[in-house]
Amino acid sequence: MNIKKSDDNIRVRFAPSPTGFLHIGGLRTALFNYLFARHHNGKFILRIEDTDRTRYIEGSTENLISILNWCNLEYDEGPFLDQNGKIYQEGDFGPYIQSQRVEIYKKYAEDLLKKGFAYRCFCDPKRLEELRKTQLLNKQPPMYDRFCRNISQKESDERSKSKPYTIRLKMPDEEIVFYDIIRGEVKFDGKLIDDQILLKSDGFPTYHLANVVDDHLMKITHVIRGEEWLSSTPKHLVLYNYFGWEIPKFAHLSLLLNPDRSKLSKRSGDVSVEDFKNEGYLPQAIINYLALLGWSTEDSQQFFTKQELIEKFSLDRCSQSPAVFDRQKMLWMNAEYIRKISTEKLYNYSVSFLTKAGFKIENFNKEYLIKLIEAEKERIKLLKEIPYLIEYFLKPDEEVVYDEKAIKKFLSTEEQKKILTKIKQLLINIENFDKITLEAKIREFCQQNNYKTSLVFHPLRVAVSGRIEGIGLFDLLEILGKQKVINRINIVINRFFK
Ligand code: GLU
Repeated sequence: MNIKKSDDNIRVRFAPSPTGFLHIGGLRTALFNYLFARHHNGKFILRIEDTDRTRYIEGSTENLISILNWCNLEYDEGPFLDQNGKIYQEGDFGPYIQSQRVEIYKKYAEDLLKKGFAYRCFCDPKRLEELRKTQLLNKQPPMYDRFCRNISQKESDERSKSKPYTIRLKMPDEEIVFYDIIRGEVKFDGKLIDDQILLKSDGFPTYHLANVVDDHLMKITHVIRGEEWLSSTPKHLVLYNYFGWEIPKFAHLSLLLNPDRSKLSKRSGDVSVEDFKNEGYLPQAIINYLALLGWSTEDSQQFFTKQELIEKFSLDRCSQSPAVFDRQKMLWMNAEYIRKISTEKLYNYSVSFLTKAGFKIENFNKEYLIKLIEAEKERIKLLKEIPYLIEYFLKPDEEVVYDEKAIKKFLSTEEQKKILTKIKQLLINIENFDKITLEAKIREFCQQNNYKTSLVFHPLRVAVSGRIEGIGLFDLLEILGKQKVINRINIVINRFFK
């Protein structure tokens, strides 16, 4: 495999905020970081950005880690889950959970304050709200009016003893230019950028400060993140300059859109990876599909193994135009993957779905279940369909559910009853109940009695399965086995015909 030896110690990170379930867009960011790191033989780090305590949701860090595990996006440093689902951390640059690093950020904020690159702001929320309202009324962009910038050092020190304050960044009034690997040169006008709060009055940092400090301390070489963070980058660059730190390389991944070109957001329904997992998407399919959102190979290859993705991935081939998240395509891809993986694996994935549907797995023979899944494989698009698709094999004969329409159409006339009674007799006499023998005998039966095959096949299928559609009739009979087939025909004859 063509993995380059890393000469510049590439280190990238995925830095989600634990504010609920992991969004599909977040997983794409994680994936691109992962692929970039593995391609260059570098390190992939997980860092939890949980300093905004108002948005924090209990359990979401654990959930996030288990989703990354489920997707097989192994990382090298960060918080991990042990056997009991408890978080532990590994790596030389930890802790990797920002709420455990608050003192570090405080020190850096104070450092900037001392150097005159930041200032204390004593404005209370009421003033800030009024300012915002007036600006909106005057059709101005809402931003802080730098009211506290000119308070003298002495006065600021004095007031800080008794009044709550935040620490704000002094944005320079100049153009800020940087090079983005995906977008090329990007320019911002510093005058139009807020004097960002770095440290809140409760001593907690904002995203901007914590993010930059950690990227520096954790020796991150490439910041690969979603386009929504592009407008934060000038603030980050100013921070790097003020601290005198080397600036990492930036790559902002294109936005994900719905097919109607609206923004794919957490709020627009089920876009959490968890939801897709519960629907019965395979992680391999999700990963393959997400890799194609904003990245492509020259020959537009569609299917990739993980190794191929690692080998072929490059930021140079990431597009800056938004990518449409097309559920239909992902569903199609999922069905393809279901057909591709071994039935044994498919069985393992389906166990939780069968259990959820009320089947006690331990009551069934594993080989038999695998056989059923194998028989249905072609028809499965989502794992959650499996219980329904195989339930008529598993239910006791008396409990098979018969479709109303099927009963009316195929289990109601005198002729149908006659045919079923005759075919039952035929089946009783068949010794080798395998599909080849069954097919030969049943076709012969049709011919001898001058029945069109459909006249026999449909009632027979409905009688043993309760459904009009399903796998091939002879496979169906063979898998069910003689005893069940005969039993079900008997039940049907007694139950549905007058
Ligand atoms: N915590 C940010 C997020 O939730 C990270 C943005 C970045 O990667 O810098 O996505």
